[in-house]
Amino acid sequence: MKLIDIVVPSFNEEGNIKSLYERIVKLNIRKYKLRLIFIDDGSKDNTLFEIKKLPKNKIGLKVAFISFSRNFGHQVALKAGLDHSNADAVISMDADLQHPPELIPKLIQRWEDGAEIVYTIRKDNEKVSWFKRNTASIFYNLLNYLSGLQISHGAADFRLLDKKVIQALKMYNEKNLFIRGLVTAIGFKKESIEYTPELRVWGVSKYSVKRMFLFALDGITSFSVKPLHFATYFGMLLSFFSGAYGIYAIIIFFTSDSVVTGWASVLTSVLFIGGVQLIILGIIGEYLGKLFIQSKGRPNYLISEKDV
Ligand code: UDP
Ligand code: MG
Repeated sequence: MKLIDIVVPSFNEEGNIKSLYERIVKLNIRKYKLRLIFIDDGSKDNTLFEIKKLPKNKIGLKVAFISFSRNFGHQVALKAGLDHSNADAVISMDADLQHPPELIPKLIQRWEDGAEIVYTIRKDNEKVSWFKRNTASIFYNLLNYLSGLQISHGAADFRLLDKKVIQALKMYNEKNLFIRGLVTAIGFKKESIEYTPELRVWGVSKYSVKRMFLFALDGITSFSVKPLHFATYFGMLLSFFSGAYGIYAIIIFFTSDSVVTGWASVLTSVLFIGGVQLIILGIIGEYLGKLFIQSKGRPNYLISEKDV
């Protein structure tokens, strides 16, 4: 019988673990051996305790877990799940039940029909905040433009990956993981399913505005070096204008007797150019920082306890 692993990154999700388990049991999937792998991403609450309380080996559904030594982040938790799987397919989903487990049979169906990646697209509805919908859409437009990828706007980390895809992903040893981008970039036969997200059953979102911003920055700088080119173009454009302005100033100096001392324009251009330089330095710094982190070759995550 074929195996399917369900990987669930969980960070402070004590109130959701049991409900998620029960909803999966209810699906009553008999065709495959399922294993639910919870990745406890350094939770401060009783998440791990709740996971351990679940029946470990009910017929057709095993429960396994990996517990990190501290919080390493959602993407890293997902990667750990993939690293530890040797199933025929892996389904990844959130712990908060925003990804309805009832979609799992559909994901499996598409996989049986030959798809190697079955991803889901979130149909935007009122349950996702206006802010999140719009910032996500700006981010994906920008990322797709910069990277040449075509990540759909409602992309979520709710998907099924065939064993072949997992083998491929295991070869990527990037420190700043952006799995949504990787999955789009690696090819394979893809199918998509639309779904309507539910409200988080328990607890609050772990993605603050700051984390979303950092996540977006990571996504862009992991998949594109175009921002560096922009820096160069912009620098060239500015030098061109300042050269032209210099020539204009010389002409004025020789042709007019009353040279107006325009401190306002000087001040504005100095501040403007200063600002642009800082932004460009920041962009270079982002890439340099990535290089620095990668070159240290530190492990992506540390496990304090596991049962897989
Ligand atoms: N998560 C995680 N580590 C983190 C942040 C989040 O493992 O540092 C998990 C979280 O427990 C949930 C999933 O990632 O299962 C998605 O997080 P959340 O629901 O907070 O994000 P949102 O749905 O609001 O985008
Ligand atoms: Mg959520």
